[in-house]
Amino acid sequence: MPKTLFQKIWDAHVVAQDPDSPAVLYIDLHLVHEVTSPQAFTGLRQRGIKARRPDRTFATMDHGIPTFSRDLPIVDDMVIKQIAMLEQNCRDNGIALYGIKESEGAAKQGIVHIIGPELGLTQPGMTIVCGDSHTATHGAFGALGFGIGTSEVEMVLATQCLLQRKPKTMEVQVTGALKKGVSAKDIILGIIARYGVGAGTGYVFEYTGQAIRAMSMEARMTVCNMSIEGGSRAGMIAPDDTTFNFVAGREFAPKGAAWDQAVARWRSLPTDAGATYDATLTLDADALEPMITYGTNPGMGIGINAPVPDPANIADLSQRAALQKALVYMGLEPGKPLLGRPIDVVFIGSCTNGRISDLREAAALLKGRRVSDKVRVMVVPGSAPVKAQAEREGLHEIFLAAGAEWREPGCSMCIAMNGDELRPGQYAVSTSNRNFEGRQGKGGRTFLASPLTAAASAITGVVTDVRAML
Ligand code: SF4
Repeated sequence: MPKTLFQKIWDAHVVAQDPDSPAVLYIDLHLVHEVTSPQAFTGLRQRGIKARRPDRTFATMDHGIPTFSRDLPIVDDMVIKQIAMLEQNCRDNGIALYGIKESEGAAKQGIVHIIGPELGLTQPGMTIVCGDSHTATHGAFGALGFGIGTSEVEMVLATQCLLQRKPKTMEVQVTGALKKGVSAKDIILGIIARYGVGAGTGYVFEYTGQAIRAMSMEARMTVCNMSIEGGSRAGMIAPDDTTFNFVAGREFAPKGAAWDQAVARWRSLPTDAGATYDATLTLDADALEPMITYGTNPGMGIGINAPVPDPANIADLSQRAALQKALVYMGLEPGKPLLGRPIDVVFIGSCTNGRISDLREAAALLKGRRVSDKVRVMVVPGSAPVKAQAEREGLHEIFLAAGAEWREPGCSMCIAMNGDELRPGQYAVSTSNRNFEGRQGKGGRTFLASPLTAAASAITGVVTDVRAML
């Protein structure tokens, strides 16, 4: 029987399956951070047990850590407690931690979905979980990666297994080639805008097609990262030479003969000819323009030159009400374009777009230019290695010379921590993945976009079509 990529990984990891029950699924890699792990470790302690596979569990701190300066004290008591608990829990369980102190491997610290691939922990064919929604990022390597809740974090720590019902599969075919100024972020915003935030509910996406195959690994991670915003449990891309070249030589990648065996195994993972998906969506990359969101979920997105939709044109009453509510929160008028709209903040970072290629794109546009004096521009690398690489290339000097802030790595304004937040009523063009009410600060209003659109808007001080500047 021909099988899909998902089916192959699923079948290889089912430990037990009773009829009409969730499967017991073996987990190859468990990534842990400070926010969703404290209760799980407390649960282990109460049962008098320790993590079953500390060698398959890796921790970092990313959500709550300060990104302005590591030398300043953390002001939030909850964050102080979460960090201290993560340090203690990792010590007690023998789990490798990449923390913010030199003694904790600070040189490798970063957002959990950025350091997994960077360290070579993320590999094709794996099952990967983390107590974080954007674990789908790791699917870019041909892995099955998905977010889990706190009680499931405890389950995986205790057993290295997880109870899971088998999702269905959906092929998301992206045909054609991206035009200049249009990027991976625009593809995923385009898919979610067209098919909605619930399109993937009950499914795992597999992205296929010419536009996906032509992408770098970093671009593939951007696409898979936002699968959850399309309702999907996970997003996957079949591994190929681009994948293997990215993984090769990384710290935790197989070496020598083990590498050759691993690549031979990984080459058997792509979906077989004749295998069928439960559903298919398509997107034409040729026709795509830079995308931007105008509303309060990532599906409320439009091409950069399009007008904000009018609720009066929506027949479904609940959808009409949702759009009306979103436009009130966003302070936007239907029928008017976002293009040219003044903004207050630009945030370039997050697990969606905080990688070195994102910073290179933004820096290439900002080189020799100044950001608008009306806009605060924060550039937050996704990890310490991304920051170090950017500094080796002199990108930080470009950002600083342009008038942007150059930060320490972390989640920062993606989730409005440590004062990295919008003030009520402020508008941000953000390269992150969520534009929910208050996500970037109480009363703050988020336009999600690509690093190129963010950098162009930083320069002009208004929502801008980057293509005019290339
Ligand atoms: S960058 Fe944002 S979306 Fe990604 S892990 Fe951090 S808080 Fe979550």
